[in-house]
Amino acid sequence: SYVGIHATSFRDFLLKPELLRAITDCGFEHPSEVQQETISQAIFGTDILCQAKSGMGKTAVFVLSTLQQLDFTAAAASSDPAASVRVIVLCHTRELAFQIKNEYVRFSKYMTGAKIEAVFGGTRYDEDVSRLHSQRPQILVATPGRLKAFVRDSKISLRNVKHFVLDECDKLLEAVDMRADVQQIFRATPHQKQVMMFSGDAHARGQGRVQAVMVSPLEIYCCVFVKTTMRAEALAKLLEGLHFPVVAVHSHMKQEERLKRYQGFKNMEKRILVATDVMGRGIDIERVNLVINYDMADSRASYLHRVGRAGRFGTKGLAVTFIASKEDTDVLNDVQKNFEVTIEPLPETIDKALY
Ligand code: ADP
Ligand code: MG
Repeated sequence: SYVGIHATSFRDFLLKPELLRAITDCGFEHPSEVQQETISQAIFGTDILCQAKSGMGKTAVFVLSTLQQLDFTAAAASSDPAASVRVIVLCHTRELAFQIKNEYVRFSKYMTGAKIEAVFGGTRYDEDVSRLHSQRPQILVATPGRLKAFVRDSKISLRNVKHFVLDECDKLLEAVDMRADVQQIFRATPHQKQVMMFSGDAHARGQGRVQAVMVSPLEIYCCVFVKTTMRAEALAKLLEGLHFPVVAVHSHMKQEERLKRYQGFKNMEKRILVATDVMGRGIDIERVNLVINYDMADSRASYLHRVGRAGRFGTKGLAVTFIASKEDTDVLNDVQKNFEVTIEPLPETIDKALY
């Protein structure tokens, strides 16, 4: 193997004794450099983005850190047989799914109650379903296509998922179809979860997409559009004063300030983004499900661009527009006529299931 060895011990991570025993059985004496750097973080539930050459021992990073965090006691089990899964590992080939499953099996050897299953295309769909329902695995290794189908057909519920792993994520996110499947699965999991992504090549073409998935759990839900930089600042300040988790971005901001604010999304769990049109264009946020046109767009093209970001990837979105002038009304009418839609007045109550 290519694994570079550090002079530390797996004991330093303070792992459960049954895990340490299995590690010894597997012949792992010392953690590799990658394991050294990431396991100590990953076992505390932090998100991990790990890029390291192949053969560096990345598999054990997520296998050990998820096994360490999971509770396999009967008391922790879900009463719903279709909602047993706590860990999802996605990978791009069946062979890899099979291999990862085996790694889980050998490291969980002394963990009573631990159940691992792998699902991938090319096997019988209905057999997979009945196996999942009878086995009730806490850990599910899957290729995206098959798991997406289960989610789509409500054969499995991902509502108890706590850890989401993408192995060889550059490969998973490279092809459009597979990426769409990954997105759909990701969106079927709760917001609160640990995300771990692994890739073999730091300069992989899929890197930009890796970022996009990492941005998704940042919980930005509401995008508010205003006409000018000054209004963006003022509205953000007002909302902040009312203790809303808000941040403003606009083009009159230095690049580093903008980056700092993006980082702020993650740390402070900002959910509301106030943006000007120009700034909104550079942002690709996939989880936005509510767009508010605090100031109406100045053209139908700009309107479409704004609301187009809500409800992507097969989910629904809601757009609310404030109409305050004759110009606003003109744009609204133009939108309705050209896109053949009817935009209704805002009802008293809004059904949350709609977005
Ligand atoms: P990667 O995913 O980074 O390409 P793998 O997780 O597939 O690497 O690991 C490569 C090989 O090294 C596997 O056979 C694995 O069992 C072995 N290995 C991983 N970590 C260690 C370790 N700490 N000590 C000894 N062997 C290890
Ligand atoms: Mg690997």
